[in-house]
Amino acid sequence: MSFSMASTPAYADNNTYHFTVKRGDSLSQYFYKLGLSNRLLANLLFANKNNKKLNQLIIGHKLTIRLRNNLQFKSLTYQLNRKTNLNIVLSGNDFSTILNSQSKKTPSDLSTTVVNINHSFGADAQKSGVGFSTINLIVKALSWQLNFNTDLKKGDRFIIVNDGSAKPVAIIYQSIIKNKSIEAFAYKNKHGHFGYFDRSGRSLNSSFLKAPLKYKRISSKFQLRRYHPILKTWRPHRAVDYAANYGTPVYSTANGIITTKGKKGALGETVIIQHGFDYTTVYAHLSRYANSLYKGQKVKKDQIIGYVGSTGLSTAPHLHYELHHKGKRRDPLTYKLTAQKSISRANLQDFKIKVNKILSSL
Ligand SMILES: [Zn+2]
Repeated sequence: MSFSMASTPAYADNNTYHFTVKRGDSLSQYFYKLGLSNRLLANLLFANKNNKKLNQLIIGHKLTIRLRNNLQFKSLTYQLNRKTNLNIVLSGNDFSTILNSQSKKTPSDLSTTVVNINHSFGADAQKSGVGFSTINLIVKALSWQLNFNTDLKKGDRFIIVNDGSAKPVAIIYQSIIKNKSIEAFAYKNKHGHFGYFDRSGRSLNSSFLKAPLKYKRISSKFQLRRYHPILKTWRPHRAVDYAANYGTPVYSTANGIITTKGKKGALGETVIIQHGFDYTTVYAHLSRYANSLYKGQKVKKDQIIGYVGSTGLSTAPHLHYELHHKGKRRDPLTYKLTAQKSISRANLQDFKIKVNKILSSL
């Protein structure tokens, strides 16, 4: 195979290579020049239908390839026409593609703070100059996905991207062990609702099931005064009791982390699940637990965690279910849980442009 001078980049700076397409040029030639593999090229072309436009480069159009310091592929920008650029960014093993207007320049006002984990997120973030309010915000934003007490390993890192406003525009966690990452991108819609989302625009939070049982009969509602059949006194019942047959499966009502599994006084055999930063649910009087359930385990919404029983202070098989929000017990039947919406279709393109700017700034 031979390559004409045509495929030599016009100029290169800082691992950025600019090409102007000449007759006979192809992306595979450019990749070859830069030492990038055919496999990478194939993956890139296959990742999105818009990427296939790179199979036929148009003479005279501009194409830029950026490499990382280790000379691995970082991103690509191709001028599709007068108005539109095709941008492709590789992050981890995933390509993201965005078509954007050339008038929107990539802002250079993004700054990045990297927190390398040595001790704990709080201590290491402080050492890197991250303030308390930002530390709290990050823990809250990622706590649905990440157990900050048990998941972090020495060598993990957090990349915090700021644009000068009060809250980070992106938080990226990269685990050293599992080669796994969690990404949170900020977005504020035109109604002023602010939240963090994955790169596809999905909320990082989980929503809740209406109830932890599929077939249920409420035997005792949330009430401030209830006559207790065993204790024979009036006491508050800040929970819902569901009458159900012995052995009926009990489901986690949202994604979360098991914080308690065991005997808990009057509640008998109990599971407690932490959901994100603010929510906790309690499942009591269980007969037994789901197989291999353990404290610290991540569970999904609708995952079986145990089975109805009558352990602890209980007269008949039932599930006692509590919902706590910000440390207060709430009525699971009526409490309005925070909506966990994804970015609306109308805002998705705008969001993805922002995500791509951030990813290409890393
Ligand atoms: Zn109860």
